[in-house]
Amino acid sequence: MRPLFHPTLLNDPFGDPGVFVDCMFTNRALLFDLGDLRNMPSRKLLRVSDVLVTHAHMDHFFGFDHLLRLTLGRGKTIRLFGPQGFTRQVEHKLLSYTWNLVQHYAEDLQFEVIEVYDENHGKKTIFSCRARFARLAESTLDFCHGILLDETFFQIKVRVLDHFTPCLAFCLEEKVHVNIWKNVLENMGLPTGPWLTELKRKVLEKAADDTTMTIAWRQSGSIITRTMPLSALKKAVRLTKGQKIAYITDVRYTPHNIEKIVQFADHSDLLFIETPFLQEDYEKAAKKGHLTTEQAAAIAQNIHAKQVIPFHFSPVHHAYPERFYEELHMLLPKKQMILINQGGHSCIPC
Ligand SMILES: [Zn+2]
Repeated sequence: MRPLFHPTLLNDPFGDPGVFVDCMFTNRALLFDLGDLRNMPSRKLLRVSDVLVTHAHMDHFFGFDHLLRLTLGRGKTIRLFGPQGFTRQVEHKLLSYTWNLVQHYAEDLQFEVIEVYDENHGKKTIFSCRARFARLAESTLDFCHGILLDETFFQIKVRVLDHFTPCLAFCLEEKVHVNIWKNVLENMGLPTGPWLTELKRKVLEKAADDTTMTIAWRQSGSIITRTMPLSALKKAVRLTKGQKIAYITDVRYTPHNIEKIVQFADHSDLLFIETPFLQEDYEKAAKKGHLTTEQAAAIAQNIHAKQVIPFHFSPVHHAYPERFYEELHMLLPKKQMILINQGGHSCIPC
């Protein structure tokens, strides 16, 4: 199965937390948290359509300026999701600069800021560069069971957790995975290629069987085209369960938080979970509203996560990262855990 999502940590486990998710077949990416973005190539950040910020503690939000600087005048609209109070925080950042010349820019930059009050309510505010980032429009939003985004290929769900301040946890779920049987395509005399994205879209949108698709490709210097009904093309399609990725960081180890996490991140294929503290530091972790290794491992077990990526290690223990993995391994089987190298970008199975 060719996964739809390709997630990577923004930094090594001791760096600022955050995950960049490349979405296959589309020129689009998602960003979870907005801390230090300097390790991310600009060409990748320019593909970000949606940014999901857990909360505005500095290590999760100071990269906003980097993103703003990069995307200014590029004709982009970026959706920014964050917890209660987030609109005002984004606005304060925007208003801290002088925008007297932006009306001359050929291309605009818009931010749609979605402030999440709870799993059912929020508001959207639009800020436009051409209007010197004044508030343009504001509307209330109703979410259905925490669904923030509901698109053809995937959904993003939210839960509001407690970190002595509201902190959002996110689940990215592919609705269903559309597999293509290449041997069936070959038997039909059809090539693979970008047209398969359109086929997948039509399948997911439940287009009528008599919908036709025209497939064009180059062969021996000439262009060949064939028009076929969806019913015939569907013979090369097999549907399986989609990918589920959970991103959980900065959370108190309380029964209420755990219940919420287990309920919505259940059976994640990939669980990104913070482990800032070793077990011996559990009192410090409780005071700061974070998890220990043992607590994170217990949550991972509870939700039956297929693979776990621990991150957001406290820099206090920078000299001995292996201690985090050793403690996690006490509860989690090695095959369930993924180590991240110091560059932060490669997932290396233990
Ligand atoms: Zn925090």
